[in-house]
Amino acid sequence: MLENAQRILKDVFGYDKFRGRQGAIIERVAAGGDALVLMPTGGGKSLCFQVPALLRQGLAVVVSPLIALMDDQVATLDELGVAAVALNSTLSADEQRLIAERIRRGEIKLLYVAPERLVQPRMLAFLQNLEIALFAIDEAHCVSQWGHDFRPEYLQLGQLAELFPGVPRIALTATADMRTREEIVQRLHLENAERFLSSFDRPNIFYRILPKDQPRKQLLAFLAQRKGDAGIVYCMSRKKVEEVAAYLSEQGFPALPYHAGLPNELRAFNQKRFLNEEGLIMVATIAFGMGIDKPNVRFVAHLDLPKSLEAYYQETGRAGRDGLPAEAWMAYGLQDVIFLKQMLSNSEGDERHKRLEQHKLDAMLALCEQVTCRRQALLAYFDEQMPEPCGHCDICVDGVQTWDATEPARQALSAIYRSGQRYGVGHLVDILLGRDNDKVRSLGHQHLSVFGVGKALGEAEWRTLFRQLVARGLVDVDIEGFGGLRLNDGCRPLLRGEVGLELRRDPKPQSSSKGGASSASQLVRGEERQQWEALRTLRRKLAEEHGVPPYVIFPDSTLLEMLRSQPTSLSEMARVSGVGARKLERYGEAFLAVLAGGESAPAPVADLRHELVSLARAGMTPSQIASQLACTEKNVYALLAEAISRQQLSLEQALDLPEDLLGEIQDAFLDGDAELPPASSIAELFAGRVEEGVLHCVRAALAAEFDG
Ligand code: ADP
Ligand code: ZN
Repeated sequence: MLENAQRILKDVFGYDKFRGRQGAIIERVAAGGDALVLMPTGGGKSLCFQVPALLRQGLAVVVSPLIALMDDQVATLDELGVAAVALNSTLSADEQRLIAERIRRGEIKLLYVAPERLVQPRMLAFLQNLEIALFAIDEAHCVSQWGHDFRPEYLQLGQLAELFPGVPRIALTATADMRTREEIVQRLHLENAERFLSSFDRPNIFYRILPKDQPRKQLLAFLAQRKGDAGIVYCMSRKKVEEVAAYLSEQGFPALPYHAGLPNELRAFNQKRFLNEEGLIMVATIAFGMGIDKPNVRFVAHLDLPKSLEAYYQETGRAGRDGLPAEAWMAYGLQDVIFLKQMLSNSEGDERHKRLEQHKLDAMLALCEQVTCRRQALLAYFDEQMPEPCGHCDICVDGVQTWDATEPARQALSAIYRSGQRYGVGHLVDILLGRDNDKVRSLGHQHLSVFGVGKALGEAEWRTLFRQLVARGLVDVDIEGFGGLRLNDGCRPLLRGEVGLELRRDPKPQSSSKGGASSASQLVRGEERQQWEALRTLRRKLAEEHGVPPYVIFPDSTLLEMLRSQPTSLSEMARVSGVGARKLERYGEAFLAVLAGGESAPAPVADLRHELVSLARAGMTPSQIASQLACTEKNVYALLAEAISRQQLSLEQALDLPEDLLGEIQDAFLDGDAELPPASSIAELFAGRVEEGVLHCVRAALAAEFDG
């Protein structure tokens, strides 16, 4: 069994070995057993059901909560030559009927479907008449009412156990906590599932958290080292999202806003651009997240503090899915702490729930004020012990300085107490520094015994100290919303002199620039750059032709490996990780040509194109051209389409299509709205009648007509 699985891994997906527990999971499911898979983002969950789907007889049904996720996976499988379709609400009745027919004929291996659709009685009845290979329930944490991704439709998936006895079910999630895990087992009736728990460490992510001090400038400094990289900047409010996106654009960083308040079309448009284009920055609220499968997000930056480590882990986890270096960056300050604490106190809900949320926030704050390895602390929160400091976070790399803050902390607490426990940090600092201003005078605070006792520290140091007192829970923030500070019972031992207090010093701004070479473009050395860009250009072109995001053609990691291993033949190319049989056939030649082109422009490809145009003009059919040029027909069609869109060939020169068939194809393209749909979207309609490549050519001709 495992041998067959290995073969599929190499032939179809182009990978040499299984990662982590993939092999064991696949063996379990392929043999008909249930499985619960907990694996971090980027760990490779998809293969855990895709390989068994190919090993077993019948149709594999994959439940996925979002259309975007489904489309992405179907496009990826399509590129690998695996027959997969997604059933979703955007399909017409006709299209759905066609899909159903293809499924009945056994032409489809994987069916992606939303949970609410799967549990419709008609759908279930349809499936019960078929041989089902397995059910995969992706993003299984959506069944948990505690998580913020709860989807009631998921609750109904429990019935699959009863309706399809003997069909293996595999549930997958990147959500780590114990409670969610138990809920999944219970609600999906996975009592017999073997549990596969992976480490939740994301070793390729570099973690950095720094105190806020002109956050936009800090962000710019961070981005300046990452020009051309794709990333996400999270902000708390919609207003701030818009402001920051506009600011970044002004500063020359291509940024788009995303939040729930934008019109649906604009949101969808921005998301699509983020996925399809390279080097865009998405400035977003947490509304942007689940379903973002883009593997080459190089950084996630937080301009506001998330409200729990669960949220922080999940949001930062969207960086570096492809396993290449990535960075999680956050700037946080006293205002964040005050704001979140106030939100919590003012929130609805019972006391128990509030206390839980309070604990979560405290854990988040503790991570910010951490004086030892951040990764160790983060993993420890998810019950995972890491024996050594990671060496790959700001604290491990830059170190931290601590200082004995016992005396100043007492002075600060005393200032809060003596001024009546109702003033904010600004006023308290004025008192400690002995500033003789109107507010101090009008309140008579110049007579307090603490007035002016704190001149040994500067304003910034006092603010840092107050922030840390709040973060550590020694001081509370008022709930009325004016930011007044009160003593918490937790500070009594310190006030009574029973304990001391060590605090971390804020790092100097300039010390925070070293760290991981987290930018993929930083990984490419000077002399490689030209070829790297040439490979990316070819990838982008192929992606446009196929109507898919570039990473669906090849991920960055595969391009990097091509660059480093410099294959010179198809058989060498086949050894590159991520090049399976189908992609080798489709794209091998073209990428080899770019590599052979060396420093200069990809000349062989240009020659090939030139020759192809001549042959087509001479009246050769695509299959004749393919054998003449020793490449696949697929490639020939792709190149023909390209020549048509560059208006070097007319459609009539390229293809010999019957008039009425041509009309039918054109109608299919023009049927929808203003935009031309991708060829793949109408391929269904002409399956078995014409090559998909023909559709690409017709589309190219239509597009050229519109542009011209
Ligand atoms: P997840 O769903 O767990 O976030 P994916 O299934 O999207 O992760 O996989 C993340 C990336 O890792 C994908 O680009 C995938 O092709 C790649 N990958 C998965 N398994 C392997 C493997 N065994 N070898 C190499 N790359 C792999
Ligand atoms: Zn570390």
